[in-house]
Amino acid sequence: MTRSGRLTFAAPLPRINMETWTGGCLCGAIRYEVTPTEPENLYCHCRMCQRWTGSVVATSTIVKKHEFKITKGEPTFFESSHYAERGFCTNCGSPLIFRAVEEDWLAIQTGTLDDPEVAPPVAHYGVEGRISWLTIVDALPHVRTEEDEWQQKHSGKQ
Ligand SMILES: [Zn+2]
Ligand SMILES: [Zn+2]
Repeated sequence: MTRSGRLTFAAPLPRINMETWTGGCLCGAIRYEVTPTEPENLYCHCRMCQRWTGSVVATSTIVKKHEFKITKGEPTFFESSHYAERGFCTNCGSPLIFRAVEEDWLAIQTGTLDDPEVAPPVAHYGVEGRISWLTIVDALPHVRTEEDEWQQKHSGKQ
């Protein structure tokens, strides 16, 4: 189990980081900041994240809910399943936050950080949804959705 209570990866985690990161949506209506103690950025290849982001792979950085705060505007939340909701900007449509309803973590869409360089990915998640023409050349672990304990509790729908 990791600090997010989900998966354990053999790959080294990003450095322990007590910096405050900032980010926001494309139009600037929503801004946030986060001071993550143990951030975990995952590529997510699942079909739900593909539809949500409009991209063939999402990048989501998991942080603790108490480490995160909205500093401007208010995302609108869409309930994508009974145990997760996804926050986005109603003005520009940027996907911003995946929030596990009953857990202590949420995931920021890494591309919305002002400096995405701070959060290198540690694994490929949801690889059952990976698009065949997407070439992966890194050596990061691959995890199927059904291998995740959190997903097992909820039949694999995010
Ligand atoms: Zn916006
Ligand atoms: Zn996903």
